Amino acid sequence: MKYEKERREMLSAALDLLNYSLVSLSGGNVTVRTADGSFLITPSAMRYETMQPEDIVLVDENGNVLEGSRRPSSDMKAVLYIMKHRPEINAVIHTHQPYATAVGLVEDELPGCLVTVLDACGPSVPVAPFTISSDEGMGRLAVEYAGESLAVILRNHGVIAMGKDLDEALESAVYLEESAKTYLAAKGLGSIHLLTREEIEAERSPRGNYGQL
Ligand SMILES: [Zn+2]
Repeated sequence: MKYEKERREMLSAALDLLNYSLVSLSGGNVTVRTADGSFLITPSAMRYETMQPEDIVLVDENGNVLEGSRRPSSDMKAVLYIMKHRPEINAVIHTHQPYATAVGLVEDELPGCLVTVLDACGPSVPVAPFTISSDEGMGRLAVEYAGESLAVILRNHGVIAMGKDLDEALESAVYLEESAKTYLAAKGLGSIHLLTREEIEAERSPRGNYGQL
């Protein structure tokens, strides 16, 4: 079986999606670009708790199965569209995370009003218009609306989070959810204190003092 390490990392990330309440049961999916330009994608409608490395499907850029006996996620066409049009992105996570999705039901973006979303996602997180799921159009709108952000909210559906690697995509999804929760709590109290463009740019500028050396 090829890419065992990557498969185990994907299973770990998928369990994190459950742990952080970003998906339920078998919802959403995880996709990773491999070193040889193929893609590992979680299977359709299988529970993450019992998923095994061999259940993850290896496909080519057109979605042809290269290795595996499971059917790939029904959103594969959309995810492969994103991978094709964002070559710097190597991991895509799709969730139905409730707080960010709730923002997308009433707003056109989650504004960049919290340092977590600014650091993990982008200057704001846009909301893409509704489109049916399991269709390439979902990927097209995600690419079109994401802009500079590593996450985009899919109206009436969920979230696409992206990253140069799986950790970055997971951080984008988790911190987006935390930020959306805070945003909605604040909306219930009154008007949101937004940041200026200058404040957003200053917060997003690298300062080199975060993380371990
Ligand atoms: Zn979905």
